[in-house]
Amino acid sequence: MALGTASTRTDRAHTVRELLASGKQSYSFEFAAPKTEKGERTLWNAIRRIEAVAPTFVSVTYGAGGTSRDGTVRATERIATDTTLTPVAHLTAVNHSTAELRNIIGQYADAGIRNMLALRGDPPGDPMGEWVKHPDGLGYAADLVELIKESGDFCVGVAAFPEMHPRSTDWDTDVAHFVNKCRAGADFAITQMFFYPEDYFRLRDRVRAAGCPTPIIPEIMPVTNVRQIERFAQLSNAAFPPELAERILAVKDDPAAVRSIGIEYATDLCARLMAEDVPGLHFITLNHSTATLEIYKNLGLHQRS
Ligand code: FAD
Repeated sequence: MALGTASTRTDRAHTVRELLASGKQSYSFEFAAPKTEKGERTLWNAIRRIEAVAPTFVSVTYGAGGTSRDGTVRATERIATDTTLTPVAHLTAVNHSTAELRNIIGQYADAGIRNMLALRGDPPGDPMGEWVKHPDGLGYAADLVELIKESGDFCVGVAAFPEMHPRSTDWDTDVAHFVNKCRAGADFAITQMFFYPEDYFRLRDRVRAAGCPTPIIPEIMPVTNVRQIERFAQLSNAAFPPELAERILAVKDDPAAVRSIGIEYATDLCARLMAEDVPGLHFITLNHSTATLEIYKNLGLHQRS
């Protein structure tokens, strides 16, 4: 039986597919599931501030090692039931049997959630380690897209990598696997963070050349402190611009100056992307809304109708 039909909220739950089809650029924000009560308060402060700017949608990440998974489901359900926001629930195949995945999809459906981001996830412990699927689970994100699609009337997003997935050996195979996820039913994609707009355009052009029209939303993460220079490269494999690192390191003892350089760089990146008609911008908040809202304001987005 298809899931997602019993919801009491489907009357007002939008899909990202419908929102993107409206033709307006989409502006969205990503939160991480909280692990503590204090974290939960911080998250909800950020959610309420972001709710005030009426973004197109918001998403909540799914914990890598299994730690914050209940928190993800709880936070996403609460966004669906207690706010005016459209949530996108991240879901990964890591350490889950297909039956468990079906169960989580059912929980999301019961809360009226219609949008999911289908991810393979990384091997627990070492993101660059060898991927081993759960013995009764799924091998790749494309399989999860299919599972979600056959479970009900869901809108499904997938991940895209402007600098190629770190485990991919060549561009042609990487793009072919991405296109395969789209053909499995993905309605949209969100990229890994990146710092050079050219990386995004190159990926987009390769995907279009492969005959795939799926909208690819660029993900933006402003640098707000010196530690993030190293952390970002570890987390995402994204090439960190040496000129940006140099500017930041020159003022490393002045946190306000570091933050302001990071915000200025991210604002310029967004402006270049918007000028090229990207379908939207997806901001990583790290559950602190201030920096991303500042970029949003710099771009004049708080004044859009
Ligand atoms: P896949 O599309 O399955 O690809 C993984 C690798 O396998 C790629 O190298 C691909 O080319 C290759 N591949 C795909 N299909 C095949 C095939 N049939 N045969 C052989 N090789 C194949 N992780 C989390 O744990 N939680 C999150 O909430 C989360 N959110 C994310 C949000 C975004 C926007 C992004 C970009 C990433 C996110 N990630 C998250 C990280 C993601 O799980 C990892 O980057 C993971 O390594 C790749 O996931 P994927 O869905 O792209 O996998």
